[in-house]
Amino acid sequence: MRSLFDFNPEYMSVVSVSRAIMDADIVISLPKFKTHGLTVMTGAIKNSYGFLPGAQKARLHKAAGSPARFHEMIVDVFRIRIPDLFIVDAVVGMEGNGPASPELRDIGLILASDNAVALDATIATMMGCDPAKLGFLQKAKRVGLGDFDLRNNEIIGELKQIPDFKLPPLGGEANIGNPSIQALLTKPTMLRPQPDTERCTGCGTCVDQCPVSALSMVEQFPEADPEICIRCFCCQEICPEKAMALV
Ligand code: SF4
Ligand code: SF4
Repeated sequence: MRSLFDFNPEYMSVVSVSRAIMDADIVISLPKFKTHGLTVMTGAIKNSYGFLPGAQKARLHKAAGSPARFHEMIVDVFRIRIPDLFIVDAVVGMEGNGPASPELRDIGLILASDNAVALDATIATMMGCDPAKLGFLQKAKRVGLGDFDLRNNEIIGELKQIPDFKLPPLGGEANIGNPSIQALLTKPTMLRPQPDTERCTGCGTCVDQCPVSALSMVEQFPEADPEICIRCFCCQEICPEKAMALV
């Protein structure tokens, strides 16, 4: 069962969300500690994008149109139902070209908070990314969801930056507020999904799951039509071999 909710008409006027989420007395969000090519990191706020069932995620990706607008939009999704508690699995984290990178890091931590902004600022700091540079945290602070300045948050335990943590290639400060890189990320010919042919088994899962049918198998490997691809990173996320990357 799903319910319809008024959303930000800049993207979509209405979205549907599972009734189970909206009716629950308590919602606990369980993000993984990992990188993401569009948002630099996947954390408490980005995890709520999973509230949207079906093809809405892809439609909203397309409606956002640019990384900067995507950062703003995920905060609107998060606000549909703000979870009560966040527990991050950082026992083994992911670095590099997330959201599906083969590069894993032993971190050995579980992080928890009742405030998503403080928690995401902590994750960003551990990754070596200044939280103040992240567009979604800027918006979250602007609308009163919390403060990414960790001096204004109580941290129980020792906060340490992970040495030499690899951010996504176009991540970190470069991704945010840089018009040239924003343009690069939205230009069809400049950023497209490409399989690592050493890893790809030709299983076709990415082709089946692409929400806009931008992928087709050419000989034994998937190939994206750059004019159709909306650069949603779903193929990268879903690939069981971690063979796909947007490059
Ligand atoms: S899902 Fe991964 S392994 Fe399967 S065809 Fe796509 S890129 Fe290759
Ligand atoms: S090819 Fe990949 S990135 Fe492009 S729209 Fe399809 S799933 Fe999304």
